[in-house]
Amino acid sequence: MDKKRVIIIGASYGGLHAAKEFHNREEFEVLVFDKKSFHYLQTEAYDFIANKSNISDITIDIGSYINKLSSNIRFIKQKVLEFDAEHKTIHTASDFYSYDYLIIATGARTNFPTFIKGLRENSHGVKTLFRALGFKQKFESTIYDYILNNAFEHQKDYNIIIGGAGLSGVEIASEMAYIIQTDFKRLGIRCLGFNITLIDAAESILPGMDRQIIYATVKRLKSLGVHIKTKSFIKEVFPNELILNDGEKMQYDFMIFTGGIKAEPIKSNKEYELNRYNQYIIDDYYNIKGESCVFAIGDVADIRDGDLPVPPTAQSAEQSGSVVAKNIIRLEKHQQPIVKKPIMRGMFIALGGKYAVGTLYDKIVFKGYMAYLIKKIITNFYKMFLKP
Ligand SMILES: Cc1cc2nc3c(=O)[nH]c(=O)nc-3n(C[C@H](O)[C@H](O)[C@H](O)COP(=O)(O)OP(=O)(O)OC[C@H]3O[C@@H](n4cnc5c(N)ncnc54)[C@H](O)[C@@H]3O)c2cc1C
Repeated sequence: MDKKRVIIIGASYGGLHAAKEFHNREEFEVLVFDKKSFHYLQTEAYDFIANKSNISDITIDIGSYINKLSSNIRFIKQKVLEFDAEHKTIHTASDFYSYDYLIIATGARTNFPTFIKGLRENSHGVKTLFRALGFKQKFESTIYDYILNNAFEHQKDYNIIIGGAGLSGVEIASEMAYIIQTDFKRLGIRCLGFNITLIDAAESILPGMDRQIIYATVKRLKSLGVHIKTKSFIKEVFPNELILNDGEKMQYDFMIFTGGIKAEPIKSNKEYELNRYNQYIIDDYYNIKGESCVFAIGDVADIRDGDLPVPPTAQSAEQSGSVVAKNIIRLEKHQQPIVKKPIMRGMFIALGGKYAVGTLYDKIVFKGYMAYLIKKIITNFYKMFLKP
């Protein structure tokens, strides 16, 4: 029997979940491509920045995980440059590969809107491990400099600005504020001059999230001394100063931007419809428009439930990956593919130290240490599933 070849581009939350569905399905040959050798656990970035974990805790070796699966699934560490749906091929810098089905799971990176002048040049992101590492090192040396030169005299304030109060912005702000509070206390230093400000253009932080979660998060951020500035749009960024839409100028020493994502679609000889975040427009089966054998999952896809966009999360990447792989298996059995949108089972937000808030199935709200424990359990299950 001729094996059907499935190519998966991107081996992270979405791509690895798709790959696992082909375990012991010898009727398929699966080639998983990633430009990196590791899967970066972005959801754990807050712990890494806080020095509670190291690189090995927030990465999974893709090759080792794929080797655990059946031999019909292989990992190829190469960047995919282009695909051609007409001839059903992809190519990397050195090779061409043909496919029967193609799953694009290339995720997204931080979006630094070009209309905000100076933003890209003057701010840090955390969407890649390289950036998270750079940010962590910079943050540590900042604290060191502050202690060395400033802490006792309080001659100069140190201002950190975080642009974007979504999930990642809120987690990073809380973790930094917590480190400053606790570490400085341990060192016997008062930290009156260290300010963290979270800025968002929306009406509130965590736009679109449950009201109770927003309320609990605002309370926690305030108790950690984080300043919150909503309905504020960053207009222009200079090396140590930014300007808001209403003309207000804010001085800063260090700036992080987590204000949104820009998807990373794969180049093609044909134009495909993308939304304003560069995500592929897909149908109910995750097919990119007009292509019955090409699918997009996770952050690179404009996943919707009815008219509403599904937030780009690890959960939706995992679930969309599994559904697409299962549908490919069904198609080969001449069965109807199923329509299944990701379900948000819960959302837990780390808010500094051993404190988190979260909901399960949009109903039960957890706060404090219990929420932190649940978040840890979820992460550990995920890692157990992937660790070699
Ligand atoms: C700080 C932070 C905290 C977060 N917290 C949470 C949380 O608590 N819960 C939650 O559900 N979500 C959270 N998210 C969001 C979550 O991390 C993303 O939604 C998730 O990573 C999307 O998974 P993905 O598989 O679609 O893409 P990604 O994880 O972005 O992976 C894409 C993969 O594709 C590879 N790739 C890209 N282009 C190519 C190419 N041309 N060739 C080969 N390989 C390629 C990349 O190397 C990468 O491995 C958080 C994100 C951040 C930044």
